Amino acid sequence: MIKIPFNKPYFAGGEIQNIVNAAYKGHLSGNGIYTQLCHRFFETRYGFKKTFLTTSCTDAFEMAVMLMDIQPGDEVIMPSFTFVSTANPFLLKGARILFADSCPDHPNMDLNAVEELITPRTKVLVVMHYGGVAQDMDKAVELARKYNLILIEDTAHAIDSHYKGKPLGSFGDFAAFSFHETKNVSAGEGGMLVVNNEKYIPRAEIVWEKGTNRAAFARGEVEKYEWVDVGASFLPSDMIAGVLYAQLQIIDEIQSKRKKIFERYYDNLKPLEQKGLVKLPYIPDYAENNGHMFYLLLKNKEQRDKMLRFLNENYVHSVFHYLPLHLSPFYKNRHDGRELPNAVRYSKMLLRLPFFYELPLELVDFISEKVISFFKTDK
Ligand SMILES: *Cc1c(COP(=O)(O)O)cnc(C)c1O
Repeated sequence: MIKIPFNKPYFAGGEIQNIVNAAYKGHLSGNGIYTQLCHRFFETRYGFKKTFLTTSCTDAFEMAVMLMDIQPGDEVIMPSFTFVSTANPFLLKGARILFADSCPDHPNMDLNAVEELITPRTKVLVVMHYGGVAQDMDKAVELARKYNLILIEDTAHAIDSHYKGKPLGSFGDFAAFSFHETKNVSAGEGGMLVVNNEKYIPRAEIVWEKGTNRAAFARGEVEKYEWVDVGASFLPSDMIAGVLYAQLQIIDEIQSKRKKIFERYYDNLKPLEQKGLVKLPYIPDYAENNGHMFYLLLKNKEQRDKMLRFLNENYVHSVFHYLPLHLSPFYKNRHDGRELPNAVRYSKMLLRLPFFYELPLELVDFISEKVISFFKTDK
């Protein structure tokens, strides 16, 4: 018997045809028809002000950081319990990162712990919607307004998820999405920067196109296509956009299937939570489940590691993450020494179960059975 994989990429159906179409149209480079279709999709469906496909979410962050004009010594507040891509782009500009702890009841950043970290040098607040579950955006937006901070949402997990009915990615000055193969909608590798604050849009067009005014030139607004600012190459090929667009066309199916997987795990494992053996993902009233992932919280690291071994020996590939960034080999000597106990706790106790679009509900039952049977031997 082969192991049930943790993740499995899939094709929605139209990907190959879109790649061929892009070639027939004679436009394989960036900003072709599929790029524009993807932009229109996100701008109309979610009301994002302006969108730019990028080659990754990491790249979307780098582009945002260029637009923010970060200076050495500027301070940025973000969760410790996140992926390195949330942090790296700021360090390239010499910013100082202050990592904040997670909530006691959720891996999301504890916004109540943010205010005391704000100083006159604080320039940016980064929120990450863990597992696609919204941060309290009323609170985040209020903090950003009160202290005049740039707000950026890491929406890598958060496609098609909402806060009080409003799409995640529409609150920040910026939001950065990922279309990596482990995310709900994928182009293999890919990402997107959302720019909601209009003041950044003209420069965003330029930075996206390698520092040139190609966008204005294409609209006939200027006579020459010139180098007008710093920039970089953030555009993916239109073939990549074609792959993404094929998936976006069935996003409702993808989301509905993934939410069913989440709910099935939840219902199957609820009795374990009722017995006090595990904790299941908590979703506040203002947030929702977007079927990004399913995780369990075990009693302690020893039990989590034991469960991980048990599942892997029983044909289930489960994994854990994140190692808190403030304790990472790269950052621990740069961190200011504050203890972030909740972030550390999640890194020790959290276990992720297989989760992908084509995972049959029968296998969700099989995996759940294995988890339940673990507690028959380990109490
Ligand atoms: C996946 C992920 C990223 C990075 O996405 P890429 O597209 O691989 O660059 C950033 N932040 C979080 C929270 C992620 O999960």
